[in-house]
Amino acid sequence: MQIIENSVVSFHYTLTDKDGKVIDSSNGNAPLTYMHGVGQIVPGLENALLGKTVGEKLDVNVSAAEGYGEHHDFMVQQVPREAFQGVDDIEPGMQFQAQTPQGGMTVTVTAVDETTVTVDGNHPLAGQDLFFAVEIMSVRAATEEEISHGHVHGEGGHQH
Ligand code: ZN
Repeated sequence: MQIIENSVVSFHYTLTDKDGKVIDSSNGNAPLTYMHGVGQIVPGLENALLGKTVGEKLDVNVSAAEGYGEHHDFMVQQVPREAFQGVDDIEPGMQFQAQTPQGGMTVTVTAVDETTVTVDGNHPLAGQDLFFAVEIMSVRAATEEEISHGHVHGEGGHQH
C-alpha cells in the first residue's frame, strides 16, 4: 500500500550533511516508525515519502527551511555564569532546559568563559541542508485508536 495520511510507516535511513558526513543512521537499530501527516518527522522528508510504497529506496534532499529550520542568531544568548548555580562544570555541548515566555526550550552550551555562558536555543541541525537515504520497510493503516492519540502504538511506538 502507498503512504497516505495516517499511514504507519517504518523506514531505515542514513542522514548525512552536505559534505557527506553521517549525522545519524538507523543501521544496526530498529527502523524508525512514524505516523504520516502529524509532523513527527521533518516536513521535507514527510512530503517526499507521501505516495511511496514498501521496498522503495529514495534519496531525499531537505533544505534547512524544510528540515529543522533556519538558524536564528537571536536564539543565541549570553547568560551570566551565576545563572548556573549548582552546576560545577559547564562545558560546550551540555544541554539545559530554559524557561522562556513561550515555554520550555532546550538550549545547548556553545561557549564558556569566566563570567559568561553562551547558549544556543536553535536545534543542533538548524540551518543545515539534510540528505536522507531512505528504505521503506513497512506501511500499514493506523488504527482508530492510534489516530485519536496522534501516535503509533506497539512496535516502534507507544507501549500503553
Ligand atoms: Zn496512544
